[in-house]
Amino acid sequence: MSTYQVAVIGGGPGGYIAAIQAAKRGLKTVLVEKKELGGTCLNRGCIPTKTLLHSSDVYHEILNSKALGIEIKGDIDYNYKKIAKRKDKVIKQLRSGIEYLVSGNGIDLVQGEAVLTSSNSFKVGDETYEAENIILATGSVPATVPIPGADQEGVVNSDAVLSLESCPENITIIGGGVIGVEFATLFANLGKKVTIIEMMPSILFGNDPDICDTMQYILSTDKGITIETNAKVSKISDDLTVVYEADSEVKESHADLVILAIGRKPDIASLNLDVAGVKTTEKGFIEVNEYMQTNVPNIYAIGDITGKIQLAHVASAQGMVAADHISGLDKKMDYTAIPSCIYTTPEIACVGLTESKAKDLGIEVSCGQFSVSGNGRSLAINSAQGFAKLVCNKNTNEIIGCHIISANATEMISEATLAIQNNLTVDQLGQTVHAHPTVSEIIMEAAHDIHNMSCHKI
Ligand code: FAD
Repeated sequence: MSTYQVAVIGGGPGGYIAAIQAAKRGLKTVLVEKKELGGTCLNRGCIPTKTLLHSSDVYHEILNSKALGIEIKGDIDYNYKKIAKRKDKVIKQLRSGIEYLVSGNGIDLVQGEAVLTSSNSFKVGDETYEAENIILATGSVPATVPIPGADQEGVVNSDAVLSLESCPENITIIGGGVIGVEFATLFANLGKKVTIIEMMPSILFGNDPDICDTMQYILSTDKGITIETNAKVSKISDDLTVVYEADSEVKESHADLVILAIGRKPDIASLNLDVAGVKTTEKGFIEVNEYMQTNVPNIYAIGDITGKIQLAHVASAQGMVAADHISGLDKKMDYTAIPSCIYTTPEIACVGLTESKAKDLGIEVSCGQFSVSGNGRSLAINSAQGFAKLVCNKNTNEIIGCHIISANATEMISEATLAIQNNLTVDQLGQTVHAHPTVSEIIMEAAHDIHNMSCHKI
């Protein structure tokens, strides 16, 4: 029997980072993974979607480059099989990078499914392992829905979409959240007919409402995507017609492929949590404290299984907190400044509170906003739709939220994240000289706008 100070179960962005952090702190560590290192993020999530989106963006950009003075002579086309192959190559390269880091940090890697046998032991196949501390990082899998017809061929989840080798002509996406909207962008960029059916009053519901409206407008006008909101799907017929009710009418959307983008559920079925006494919520997520400890003090849980915020960088941050706590450090997980990004064109990136959420919490707020139409770099790169909005606490002047829809928004959000994490005021951000011409100047201008002092606004 092998004995460790730390055993990490699940090799996604939560688990492999936790294992590396534990090993760097000098703890004898084992990492168990049942499929591929990198988890959902690398193999079925963040990286494959962004790689496919990049190809589709380039194709769409080339087709629409006339406005930039570019004349295309001859046909422009794409080969989806090759696009998918490039995605696989990127995944493979990154996965081998993780393998290298895991072995280079002296972590024992075990391939197989871990099943708990007590609060400090587990089995992988016939082999038993003991560990003083166990970090559960088994992530999530696509949720299923009880819609009649949802289990037939042609109705797929995100895992299956990312394994397609050809591109269907006519796609209906059930769910207008981040995953649904990114898939819609991918296929619309490639010239496919896309319909999004969303149950909530807007796509990307929960984000700043002006951002949701702007994106809804861009997707429907520029990309030709049909968007139905406040729409409830009742069934999917044998010929892949999605039947739904919207505006008190029964409507239909026919497709060659129906994508279910309706959320994810924790992957805990195989773990045998009961034997270790680990408690879960009604929805199956594992309850944790700010050090990521479960109700069993030497068992930690991180990432999607905690049901906090299902993002890769949150899983990694939680993993570091858990490993540090095991090594005796007193660092707590803080969710105040967690950026979230949507890789549409233009991109969306947000951090902190929306204006309405802050008001709900009883915070008196002032907001500043600046449009990309007044930003030189945005016009230079032909990206003239969008804005940055800053939310600040009126009494302390501290920045508490930032919401951007623009080119490069996902790269720029780190500036606002740093500001919120460190309680910077809107004046400190506004007095920070931003390079010109950059899209990031819209954040500085939004900061000036809070006191009505944006020089590029009347
Ligand atoms: P996972 O990445 O799910 O990894 C868990 C690992 O545990 C898996 O490899 C699994 O095989 C393994 N495992 C499970 N049970 C066992 C067991 N019993 N024994 C051994 N191994 C086990 N997030 C972002 O931040 N940015 C994005 O752009 C983004 N895009 C996404 C796009 C899509 C289509 C999807 C589906 C998700 C996306 N996400 C994105 C979310 C992100 O992928 C997850 O939040 C993240 O992967 C969670 O990390 P994790 O370590 O908790 O779990």
